[in-house]
This record gives sequence, structure tokens and C-alpha cells, in this order.
Amino acid sequence: MKRNPLAHVRGMNDLLPDETFHWQKIESVARDVFHRAGYREIRLPLVEEAALFIRSIGEVTDIVEKEMYLFDDRNGDRLALRPEATAGCVRAVIEHHLGREGVQRLWYTGPMFRHERPQKGRQRQFHQIGVEVFGISTPDLEAELLLLTDELWTALGLTGLTLEINTLGTTDERSHYREVLLDYFTPHRGELEPDDARRLDRNPLRLLDSKSERTRALLEGAPRLIDSLGPDSRAHWERVLELVTATGVSFRVNPTLVRGLDYYTQTVFEWTSPALGAQSAVCSGGRYDNLVEHLGGSPLPAVGWALGIERLAALVPAHRPKGPDAVVIPVGARAEAVCLALLRDLHRLLPGRQIESSLGAGSLKARLKQADRTGARRAVIVGEDELMRGVVQVKTLVGERRTDFVPRAELVEYLVGAAGRADSSVEDRR
Ligand code: ATP
Ligand code: MG
Repeated sequence: MKRNPLAHVRGMNDLLPDETFHWQKIESVARDVFHRAGYREIRLPLVEEAALFIRSIGEVTDIVEKEMYLFDDRNGDRLALRPEATAGCVRAVIEHHLGREGVQRLWYTGPMFRHERPQKGRQRQFHQIGVEVFGISTPDLEAELLLLTDELWTALGLTGLTLEINTLGTTDERSHYREVLLDYFTPHRGELEPDDARRLDRNPLRLLDSKSERTRALLEGAPRLIDSLGPDSRAHWERVLELVTATGVSFRVNPTLVRGLDYYTQTVFEWTSPALGAQSAVCSGGRYDNLVEHLGGSPLPAVGWALGIERLAALVPAHRPKGPDAVVIPVGARAEAVCLALLRDLHRLLPGRQIESSLGAGSLKARLKQADRTGARRAVIVGEDELMRGVVQVKTLVGERRTDFVPRAELVEYLVGAAGRADSSVEDRR
């Protein structure tokens, strides 16, 4: 089938108003949880030098090898749409010397871009909320970050998520393990699928992440990463387990959990939900103590995580708009100006109330029907008769129906009182 050149780009979706309401709720809950825990927002560009991602995420990773949106701008600079935000965040911390100002607890949100195969739970433009903390090397930070995610799930009314954690040790310990793994897999090289054979040559650790059944079966008998750890890494890991246990957040140790990005050291973790099907990862992250230095800054330890908003939104119980408190309906040309002025006054005097107008052509009956459809609680009607009498007609559209004629000057007072009377029945109806 011929593609419509003006249709949306595959994997980059519109978010329609019915969904944005749900997203806004999620974002505002997250913002509140972060604020209360002392995290501050950082806003980063969507475009960075491609080299930043290649250097931080690692050359032999799916993201860098096949998923980045790369382009040369008009100066010939090699740029990329960000596939994730940690690299940009680290770049900003280095450039603005934030590390000198003590511990940084940061959060961000926004779109990320990866040229993956679009499917349920996987888009090419997707959205993340993430946090990054700089300046703490001790395991209590891992515990804080996992607790923070857990608080977020609770605040969002989410249940049934599972947490898996693992340790990757230091860069040296991982290099050592890489050799061990290479020795183990080399005699089986011929049995591996081409992708995994290539991983074996270039980045054997990525085999732990393999989805191939053959590789998974071989992994059963493979040496374990934990046995390559030195005493410091072991102590760090033991303490992470102790502290996370103490927070009461339940978890499972998964010795084959590695992340698709090379910059992690020590602790890595992932929250999944069986309700999501194949794309079950909701949130993942870990410690990356070397990345700041690797990107040219002074050494600065860090831990972070990112969650996928699309996947989260699919799990969070739907938030539905309550509908307007009132819809102002003019009947006849003379009432229009009065209604616009009324609307202006109501918006000014009743902050926090949602008061809409019913404009355009259409009978009163059709407009009342439309108001009802939006879930409006009241209709404020102004026609010739009301104009003459200096009143407005207020129809209650939910709960116990009633019609009142209210002097125009008393409308605000009436609506303030009416909200108290009617809202309980509104909740009952929904
Ligand atoms: P996956 O294993 O699903 O590919 P990932 O390991 O690539 O995830 P990260 O790079 O750690 O994911 O990103 C953190 C979160 O962002 C994921 O847990 C997921 O919720 C979300 N995410 C990642 N890639 C996509 C995508 N293409 N579409 C939608 N959400 C995504
Ligand atoms: Mg991925």
C-alpha cells in the first residue's frame, strides 16, 4: 500500500485530548512526589551532538548501532535526536559545574527518539520521566531512588509492579567478567544466532540480555558476574540489598539483568508489569559512577532511572475530566455580549472553576444536550426574557434537577453555594 506522505510518521503518535488529561494527572503526581523529596526539574534540549550518545551509551549497543535518529545540520555538524536523557543531563551538569554546588537531585520529562520497530508499548517517539542524582557514592542513594519510584507508584494508585535488581561491579570487574564470559561462550560460538555471535565478539556482556532461547539455555551454566566482584563491590551490593530490604520495597535479585546502555556500574534495576505483555519494562536505571568523568568532567558518582510514560499511562487507572462547573448559553444575538461579559467576570471571580461558553448557532435544546454530554453540572442561560428581568436562568444538569432564576449580580454567590449543594450528587452519578 502506498504511504500517505502527509500522514504521521510511523511510531510517532498524536496524543489526543482524551489522553492528555490522563497524562497531565500522571505528570502532576510525579512533579509533586519529586518536589516533596527535594528533586528539582532540569529541561534539556532534544538535540545533542551525536558523539555525546555514542560515547556515553556505548558503540556496541542497540541504541547506537541501529536506533538513533542522526542528521547533519546546515553547518555539517553530526547531531542526534536524543534517545534518552541521561547523557544530556550529565553534559549539562559538567558544563554548568553543578557538581561543585553539592549533591544534585534532578528530574526531567520529555520525548525521546529511537528508530525501533513500532508495536504495542514501543514507539519511535516515546516519553520518559526520569531522575538523576549526582554526588553520592554510597548505597543509601540506590535505596532512596527505589523508594522514590515506589512512592510514585503508590501516589499513582499503581499495584502489581515487580522490581528486579542486580549488580555489575566496577568497570574493571566487568572487564574481567567479560573475559570469563568470552572463554565460556567461545567454544559455543557456532551455536549462537548471528546477532549474539557478533555480541560475543564485540560486547559479550550483552549476551546476558539476549532473548535467544539457545543463548538463554547456555547462560544457565555460565559463570556468574557476582563471582568476579572484588570486596568493595560486594560490600556495596550487600548494603544495597540490606537498605532496600529495610525500606520495605519488595524486590528480586536477577543475576542476568544487564541494561542496554554501557555506562552503568554497580547497581542496576528494572520495574516491570506483567499487565503490559511483551514490552513489560516500565522503569529502569542504575548507578553510573564513571560517566561524568568519561564525558570529560571531574569524577562524580551518580544514580538515575527513567520510566516510559506511555507504558505507565496504560497501567494507571484512568483519570476522567469531571466536566465543567457551568456552561453559559446565550439565546439570541442581544444576549451574546452579556454572556461574554458574564464569562469574563465568572472566570475572574471564581478561580479554579471550569466555566465554558456555548457559542455559535444551534437551538437551546441542542446546546443543553451538548452541555450534558460534556458532563457540565449547570447551564447558565440568558435569553430575551432574562435580559429584560436582569436575571439568568440556572439549570442544574446533574443529580436533583432544578431551575432557578438568579439576579445577575448574585450569580457568583449562587454558584459558590450551589457547588457545595450539587457536587456530592455529581460524584454519585459517575
Ligand atoms: P526495553 O527493554 O523495553 O527496550 P529499554 O531497556 O530500552 O526498554 P530504557 O532505555 O532503560 O529502556 O528506558 C527506560 C524506559 O523507557 C523503559 O523501561 C520503557 O518504559 C521506556 N521505553 C524505552 N524504549 C521505549 C520505546 N521505544 N517506546 C516506549 N517506551 C520505551
Ligand atoms: Mg530498548
